[in-house]
Amino acid sequence: MVELTNFTSGASAPHNLSEPERLFHFMNHTKTKSSRKPKAAGSKKRSHSDGNSNVQSSAPFGGSGKRKKRSHSDGNNNGNRQRGRGNKKKKFAGSDIDLRDLVKKADPVKEVKAFVPTLTFDEMDLHPKMKSALMHRKYIDPTEIQERAIGYALEGRDVIGVAQTGTGKTAAFLIPLLDSYLHTNERRPFTALIMVPTRELALQVLDEFKALTKGIPVYAQKLIGGTSLHRDMQDLRRKPNVIIGTPGRMIDLMERGALPLHMFDTLVIDEFDRMLDMGFSHDVMRLANAMENRSQNLLFSATVDTSIRKYLDELLTDPQEVRVSSGTKSADSVEQNIVPPVEGEMRFDTLTRMLNEPEFKRVILFAETKRKVSRLCQKLNKAGIRAEEIHGDRSQGQRQRALETFRRNKAQVLVATDVAARGIDIDDVSHVINYEVPRTYDSYIHRIGRTGRAGRIGKALTFVD
Ligand code: AMP
Repeated sequence: MVELTNFTSGASAPHNLSEPERLFHFMNHTKTKSSRKPKAAGSKKRSHSDGNSNVQSSAPFGGSGKRKKRSHSDGNNNGNRQRGRGNKKKKFAGSDIDLRDLVKKADPVKEVKAFVPTLTFDEMDLHPKMKSALMHRKYIDPTEIQERAIGYALEGRDVIGVAQTGTGKTAAFLIPLLDSYLHTNERRPFTALIMVPTRELALQVLDEFKALTKGIPVYAQKLIGGTSLHRDMQDLRRKPNVIIGTPGRMIDLMERGALPLHMFDTLVIDEFDRMLDMGFSHDVMRLANAMENRSQNLLFSATVDTSIRKYLDELLTDPQEVRVSSGTKSADSVEQNIVPPVEGEMRFDTLTRMLNEPEFKRVILFAETKRKVSRLCQKLNKAGIRAEEIHGDRSQGQRQRALETFRRNKAQVLVATDVAARGIDIDDVSHVINYEVPRTYDSYIHRIGRTGRAGRIGKALTFVD
């Protein structure tokens, strides 16, 4: 293992510290380049010491002693940050993020607070073929969002599921949709339309769909950008039962008269908040309005705030809202910290030093623009660190190949823009690194949610000036 002494430019750490403590120690003892940008760096540095970080005594930033715990860690869902009264905000230029948002110890206690289901899938009122498909998938007990949403959906109610990736939300909408298909619509074409914000998420939902439909005569088609439109039109003539796609491609096909939206009776919208973030509100509403015979709507979103509510009123009829407890909130299982500038060292060199540490096994590195992502990826490969890149300028095939290489551990680092990384579901990401402070706290939370999954503690590091 590389000695911390080397890693931190001269800041030596006691050897009896745990790895997280060593990292905190590194932060604590690293000199910052405050002279380079005297005003900004100075003011940000000051905020370390007077911020009420909930990092405790082994905390970074030269804290002299006790720090008050603040409510952030057990606060509400994404974006609903709670602050102690009187806390001054220390924002970064061009970002709504407060420095204190980037530093937090992981909270493994919440992670183990397991949900206890009251019924197994076998005990639920599901079609026998659905039950055997679930057995085949080896899903015995429902997850919390599944137990709470499936019953209402089976009654034919509109449902708003407030749940994040990792909670089992995909099966929470697929199971009732498939069950209703088995009971009423078997073999009928164009029954359910599933809208998701990204191509990657569409492919993941399709994978789950395939895995959950063993023995069920149902066929799903994906409609996503970056693939042949002509091919989509040909495949649609085969009359799939379910469509899974992104709004842009669906609008294209609707305008060409190739997508019979009036036939669908069920609309599913997944990651609705992302959809709005990505500017799809107009497309989503257009598509939904064209589905004039839809009788059920299932909408899932990690957050539901007032800006989202107005769309919900328009899209849904008397919806039942189900929320899963924050016990599975992804950020809780992520240890978060900042990487201040290291004197006499370029940011890229600090990065490569970190990446050469053995614990940085599988890293997603975020940068703000497509160009920066490409440049960083090239530089990392030149420096002997295997990296792949995903961003909007890459074709669908290139993105899939990059993800597969990363998934199969043939690349240590996946360099990504925000948008490209949405919906990526790769287990065992050891670190998320932000090469710059993200523009919004919401995007920060989504980024760091790529690590600390499936009961593991993840780490998120953010480079700051
Ligand atoms: P999702 O939130 O839909 O991305 O699902 C997260 C993970 O949980 C996926 O790997 C699913 O295969 C898995 N999963 C979903 N539902 C269940 C279940 N009832 N039992 C076991 N695993 C599940």
